[in-house]
Amino acid sequence: MITGLTAAELAAKLKSKEVSAVEAAEAHLDRIDEVDADYGAFLTTCRDQALADAEAAQKLLDAGEDKPLTGVPFALKDNICTEGIETTCASKILEGWKPPYNASVVENLKSQGMVLLGKTNLDEFAMGASTETSAYKTTRCPWDPDCSPGGSSGGSAVAASAEMAPIAYGSDTGGSVRQPAALCGVVGFKPTYGRISRYGLVAFSSSLDQIGPLTRSVEDTALAFQAAAGHCRLDSTSLPDAAYNPGDLKSGSLKGLKVAVPQELMGDDISEGVRESVEIALDRLKREGAIITSVSLPSLPLGVTTYYIIAPAEASSNLGRFDGIRFGPRIEKGDHNESTAATRGQLFGHEVKLRIMVGTYALSAGYYDAYYKRAQQVRGLMADEMSKVMREHDVVISPTSPVASFRLGEFAKDQMALKTLDLCTIPANMGGFPSISLPCGNAGDMPVGMLLTGPIMGDERLLSTAYAAEQAMGFSGRRPPIL
Ligand code: GLN
Repeated sequence: MITGLTAAELAAKLKSKEVSAVEAAEAHLDRIDEVDADYGAFLTTCRDQALADAEAAQKLLDAGEDKPLTGVPFALKDNICTEGIETTCASKILEGWKPPYNASVVENLKSQGMVLLGKTNLDEFAMGASTETSAYKTTRCPWDPDCSPGGSSGGSAVAASAEMAPIAYGSDTGGSVRQPAALCGVVGFKPTYGRISRYGLVAFSSSLDQIGPLTRSVEDTALAFQAAAGHCRLDSTSLPDAAYNPGDLKSGSLKGLKVAVPQELMGDDISEGVRESVEIALDRLKREGAIITSVSLPSLPLGVTTYYIIAPAEASSNLGRFDGIRFGPRIEKGDHNESTAATRGQLFGHEVKLRIMVGTYALSAGYYDAYYKRAQQVRGLMADEMSKVMREHDVVISPTSPVASFRLGEFAKDQMALKTLDLCTIPANMGGFPSISLPCGNAGDMPVGMLLTGPIMGDERLLSTAYAAEQAMGFSGRRPPIL
């Protein structure tokens, strides 16, 4: 079946003409039509445009002008702007908004001849860890439809896991690519901050946001990263040497690999099932020659509280632009101020309003030093501690999420508990480090992810290490039993 192929396998079949780009697009679109009513991964699909793009890709393939992923379909989180295609951020405040331009990452993927299938569901404005704050629909984990796929890039994780797209892009501010990848049993990668352009990614917390791919193998992650990465003059935080070449992806070895395991991320905050599964996986790496050392990074437990000052502070400023005038619907009521208040009051969801209020408070005169400035200082401390340990070790490993997938609604009454699930993923965002989640085992019937984090611009090494770890562990590409 075409939809069961990895991106690398599909690309090979496209090049050998065993499969045409139109067949590849149709197979995935049909699969979405067939199964997505059960999973709710997509907010929008773009069949006509996808088939037209696939025909154009086929011409490139026929002319031999193909790039690595020409003709390969992909899905995109609905907070990444697509020209003429609705981009809602899963919020009512952007209902019906069709951006007049493509995000730079979309331009990069299209220039490779990749084919956009549709836009995936997320927590509203990417604020959440279960995809349940979406204003539009519930997304379900393919491993158990009563469970959450994680979030905020839950739709992208499900698209990859349930074989609706070989590659789905998400955004990661505090873990939103890696955590849903872990909960859905796929690979999720947040590159070094600045390697994939943020131009056209609707900003949540600009100093933390980074786009990254979710796929079913590390090889596909490398290909998807290559297609997306590159310097962008429209993003002032884009790195000059952002481009990536997977050249020696498969040359990585675990022999002599120095692994640091922060004890703060293996303690009581981690559920037993997850901890056991990560320990077994670490043993596996050790048998292949890795040298595993337990280290202490005392600032890491401060990550969640620090993050929940910095991210809302930046969000409160970034979301100021949604006034109902320039984007999306407007509720008219009395004068301008009343209309703006009604629009924001009625069309933003609860979680988004909560963050705007927390962020505005943390930035206000008199509180700025106590909250925002302090949080930035702790952020610096976390980045320093991580950098220091990475000078002495090749990679930092921990669980990706303290828990495996949980039942939908489980955190309805305890939103703080849901926020603590970002414990292990936040440090990479704080320091801009590249970080990848790999399927490493199970807790009960549900997949568990292992998180590997490397130094800034160490993406090449991190991915080749992840490739070697994936081969040793053998959990990538397992299909949810339901498929
Ligand atoms: N769960 C975190 C939050 O709710 C992270 C979200 C993200 O990475 N976009 O903010």
